[in-house]
Amino acid sequence: MVRFNGRHFTVFDRQNTPGAELSGVFCILAEADGGVLFGTAADGVFRYHHGRWQHLGEPAARRLPVSALLRDTDGGLWIASANRLLRMDVHGRVHDVGADAGLPGVRINALARSGDGALLVAADTGAYRLQGGRALPWAADWAGTNAVRGIAGDGADGWLLATDDGVYWRDAGGKVEHLQAGRRVEAVLRDAVGAIWMSLSSGDLLRHAGDGDERLTITGPVSPALLADREGLIWSGSTDGLHRVAEVAAVGFTRKDGLGSDYVRVVLQSEDRTLWIGHADGLDRWHQQRMHPVRLGDGGGRDPSVLALAWRDDMLWAGTYDKGVFRLDAQGRVQERIRLGSHGEPIVRALLADPDGGLWIGGTHGLSHYRNGQLQLRLDSRGQPTAVVHALYRDGDGTLWIGTTGGMAALRPDGTLRTWNAEDDIPAQYVFDFLRDPGGDLWIASDRGLLRMREGGFRVYDHRHGLPRDKLFRIIDDQAGNLWLPSNIGVFRIARKELDQIDAGTRRQLAVHVIDHSDGMPGSQGNGASMPAGWRASNGALAFPTSAGLGLIDPRIAGRYDGKAPPVVFESVSVDGVQQTLADRLRLEPGARRLAVDYTALSFRAPDKIRYRYRLHGFDGDWVEAGAGTEAVYTNLTPGHHRLEVQAMALPLDWSRQAEVGTAVMELDVVPPLWKRTSSRVLAGLALAAAVVLGFWLRTASYRRSQRRLGRVIAARTEELSDKNRALELAGIERDRLLQQLEHQATHDVLTGLPNRRAAELHLRQALERAGDRGEPLCVALIDIDHFKQINDRHGHHSGDRVLREVAELLRLQLDGDQFVSRHGGEEFLAVLRGVTLEQALERLQALRLALARQRMDEIAPGLVVTASIGVAECGPGQESPRTLLAAADRQLYRAKREGRNRVCGL
Ligand code: GH3
Ligand code: MG
Ligand code: MG
Repeated sequence: MVRFNGRHFTVFDRQNTPGAELSGVFCILAEADGGVLFGTAADGVFRYHHGRWQHLGEPAARRLPVSALLRDTDGGLWIASANRLLRMDVHGRVHDVGADAGLPGVRINALARSGDGALLVAADTGAYRLQGGRALPWAADWAGTNAVRGIAGDGADGWLLATDDGVYWRDAGGKVEHLQAGRRVEAVLRDAVGAIWMSLSSGDLLRHAGDGDERLTITGPVSPALLADREGLIWSGSTDGLHRVAEVAAVGFTRKDGLGSDYVRVVLQSEDRTLWIGHADGLDRWHQQRMHPVRLGDGGGRDPSVLALAWRDDMLWAGTYDKGVFRLDAQGRVQERIRLGSHGEPIVRALLADPDGGLWIGGTHGLSHYRNGQLQLRLDSRGQPTAVVHALYRDGDGTLWIGTTGGMAALRPDGTLRTWNAEDDIPAQYVFDFLRDPGGDLWIASDRGLLRMREGGFRVYDHRHGLPRDKLFRIIDDQAGNLWLPSNIGVFRIARKELDQIDAGTRRQLAVHVIDHSDGMPGSQGNGASMPAGWRASNGALAFPTSAGLGLIDPRIAGRYDGKAPPVVFESVSVDGVQQTLADRLRLEPGARRLAVDYTALSFRAPDKIRYRYRLHGFDGDWVEAGAGTEAVYTNLTPGHHRLEVQAMALPLDWSRQAEVGTAVMELDVVPPLWKRTSSRVLAGLALAAAVVLGFWLRTASYRRSQRRLGRVIAARTEELSDKNRALELAGIERDRLLQQLEHQATHDVLTGLPNRRAAELHLRQALERAGDRGEPLCVALIDIDHFKQINDRHGHHSGDRVLREVAELLRLQLDGDQFVSRHGGEEFLAVLRGVTLEQALERLQALRLALARQRMDEIAPGLVVTASIGVAECGPGQESPRTLLAAADRQLYRAKREGRNRVCGL
């Protein structure tokens, strides 16, 4: 059995759960009291309730194969067991009711109850109806006598039958419809909006509705498992796993659609409606519903990573990671290549094409202007390693706005330049994008939130106003009153008028809608520091590059499903590390020091968008905002009665909208210490006596228990043998899946998502071989956070973890997704820099070090500053194996630490 709460799958099986020793599960039945029944392949029925497992029925019942279950109104349980219809009474005795009622001995596939209390039976020779102890054929007049695989009500007193000859649907008025004639349908249901869903044995999931039919191909043959849930999601099971079907606001373009790489950097639509998509392995064109690769390479090696695009007069300009800038015609043929450096090309991150044919080129070198074959450097980033240009924007007045890693600058039409230095002149470090309003306001996407420049001053909208992340890569106006801002956890939609209300003081929090993976985006992590990092297409769709493909959002659908209260449940409670039985009322003994309560909201549509808060009445003064955290911890609770209340709501957050807030309550009684109570002495005496008796009883009880367990184990083993084939088959499928999962786990670090040390060693070995073959330089860097232990000590381990994630992300951003970065262990990271000399590596790592030292981590802890020491080594004589090269880098790291930390050392 597997339990899924929207976030985690928990497996209960014979290895990890005493009392749940069973073979495969064929059917599940949720009961009114919160219990769940499981019908198994060869072990009868199991029941789960309040964390406890029970094997139902007399010994004979515990060896039955079970294909369908239905609870009767009088407490009896209907069991379809191969060719028999059985009924288990409340004493656990099983009767063969089907044979007595005259049901033919054929396979039974499903059970249902009709409105008048009769039992409906789906069998291989048609459907039957059982009432008053007699079984009669049913529905033969409108559905024939094909094998019936499933029965479902249509929500309006009609019936749907899934048969080997399609689906028969008879509504309450007696009208019959025959769908998918001739095809074998495993399961059918009608959802809340009236659409009919059918699982076909061919592996297709079909949706039939008034607005037309839709076909979804499920990988692997489907199983009869088909479910419509409270949120309107459809769940379908197949031999490849569990599939969730939802109407979503976004779709993704990935390698499966012909994209050259899933690591998408930039996107732009040209006037002929071609979508140009730049990614880690080059450039693609989406034209007339087809993906066309664009060749930038010279035939041989792989195409460079494309980080910047610009379009003007039927020409496309593409800026790359290490091959300069290309000019292409509208069909994607290279016309010209601009080289920017004499030895080694800078990384081009921003392009802007002027009507006069001039081209502005921003990147690690600074800013250049190119026209008629002439290249001129206009801003030099040398000497100030963090001032890399990655945004260019021309406003209506003709001013060129320049976003950098160290603030921003403006080049006026008259040639004068004004700069805003990070932190001193502008409350941000990185500036990623601009948008100028006709009224004169300049919007700025930065690493510290959305800024609005008005009359020379800045207003900041950030986490304090409810922005889920401060770092924003792009600003797009949807012409419908909203700004769209991609971040590394999804794309944010903010109503412009709410920003005005914040300014006017009539609003404190923004209602930020988040569009992420749960909405159909290929990934939640947006990519930025390259341009354009998002585009509004001519049909209104919004395209955003992510690290897992290109996302296309339909702004009209986004947010349509917001607004339902998610039910909150308690998942586990522990006192001083000991798991407690879940109950609505919990008793804490005196001396209990640490109470930890895990909770979650059962949202399956968008679990990542749920936010929580909790409050222990009589202890907490106010609500504790828990963000996405799902644990409440208390130490040193005072004796007395307390109420723990947990609330959850989906983004956008606004706790005053009570109808959208889910709540759960747990009562807690903290018992005062014994010596504080009046009757304690008498009780103590009695308790002692009771303890002696109980102790004796417990000793013998444990002996009795182990006897019983032995008996069960012997029985289970015997059955196991008889059912060996089935078990082996299931195990095979399970093993394949586990192997896949293990492979990912084995090569990736859970906390940061970066490759782990093992993956790094493999990568380094291959990179060294390749560098050797090609005679290219290669450097490795070890990056170790300074005084990380102090960060843990001062701000808690949780904040330490967030720092690690933040640093990992900075590494990804700075080293660009093209170079390899891994978590080497603890607070140490490894970077493998291919095609880079020691000198170049030192320069880039200096920039990285400075960027980290300047990174604001106020979201984690106010005023927190994190620095790192970096040791670099270049592959060369005596340093050509992974081991010797790493050792050399480690020596340099040690030197950097010794010389005072927050520095880069290399040799
Ligand atoms: P130095 O400047 O000399 O590198 O000092 P340091 O404190 O950073 O180095 P040290 O190696 O003494 O301590 C590293 C600490 O990192 C110790 C360990 O508890 C902590 N750490 C390791 N892995 C994790 C993790 O995954 N999360 C958190 N929060 N801390 C971790
Ligand atoms: Mg350290
Ligand atoms: Mg260390």
